Amino acid sequence: MAAKVLDGKALAQKIKDGLKKEVEELKIKGIKPCLAVIIVGNDPASRIYVNFKKNDCAEVGIESVEHALPEETTEQELISLIQQLNKDPGISAILVQLPLPKHINEDRVIFSIDPSKDADCFHPVNVGKLMIGKPDFMPCTPAGVIELLDENNIAVSGKECVVVGRSNIVGKPQAILLLAKNGTVTVCHSKTNNLEEVCKRADILVAAVGRPEIIKGSFIKPGAVVIDVGVNRTEDNKLVGDVEFSAASEIASCITKVTGGVGPMTRAVLLKNTVKAAKMQG
Ligand code: NDP
Repeated sequence: MAAKVLDGKALAQKIKDGLKKEVEELKIKGIKPCLAVIIVGNDPASRIYVNFKKNDCAEVGIESVEHALPEETTEQELISLIQQLNKDPGISAILVQLPLPKHINEDRVIFSIDPSKDADCFHPVNVGKLMIGKPDFMPCTPAGVIELLDENNIAVSGKECVVVGRSNIVGKPQAILLLAKNGTVTVCHSKTNNLEEVCKRADILVAAVGRPEIIKGSFIKPGAVVIDVGVNRTEDNKLVGDVEFSAASEIASCITKVTGGVGPMTRAVLLKNTVKAAKMQG
């Protein structure tokens, strides 16, 4: 039987509808959420993501201010802009679109963002707070995945959860959030022996690798919940996930698609973080 497709687009819309009302109420109290979006260089994918995020802001009544900087911007110039935005009381939250050009150190840039304005939840202070179960902000993609599970009444407690990928942006915080929900969590990476065996143990499998269809149907335990974070372009310009969808969807109980799955949820959590930042700053 074909798996149920978890609809991230619909849930993201529901979250945005709720945020729109909340933002209206905040504005009455004099709190105006505003997201500063910084993009450096001309990466076409980054431009698309930034446009999506700005449109999302507009949809829920959050103001957004874009700073589009040229490719040759120095690290110091970028950090100076961030320091200026940190001090600006009109800016609730700051997002630096990654990746940055090679000559800029991403860590130093992320560390320069005021943790109370950290829309992406990348700053080590916020990562630390998440780790000890006292987060101010949520990591956008992993928290979006959790909201998708919750909305579909998929319990995590006691389940075998396997996360493939250990990036600071997705894999590691995903593992922390699943652990916080009492999952039994295994994290896989490029040095994992016998990925197939480990994945096959999973009641809940989250793939965040960035390799087209690396997770084959044979890796899936019958009835598992499969969340595909990956977004990959094939040589023939097709968009595919990290999971071989057609085969996996015959074996899983629930699955996400590469579009309309995790992506919209990621963006919805970004909006939530921006509103939270505005509320925290009063
Ligand atoms: P990274 O490249 O930072 O991390 C990839 C991870 O996958 C690494 O931990 C790496 O292991 C692991 N890996 C690589 N090859 C293998 C392998 N053969 N077997 C097992 N593990 C492997 O990527 P991100 O975490 O930033 O993103 C992952 C994917 O998710 C990408 O496709 C990205 O586009 C997508 N993404 C989608 C989002 C959305 O909103 N839908 C948001 C963010 C990302 P090691 O650490 O050992 O190198």
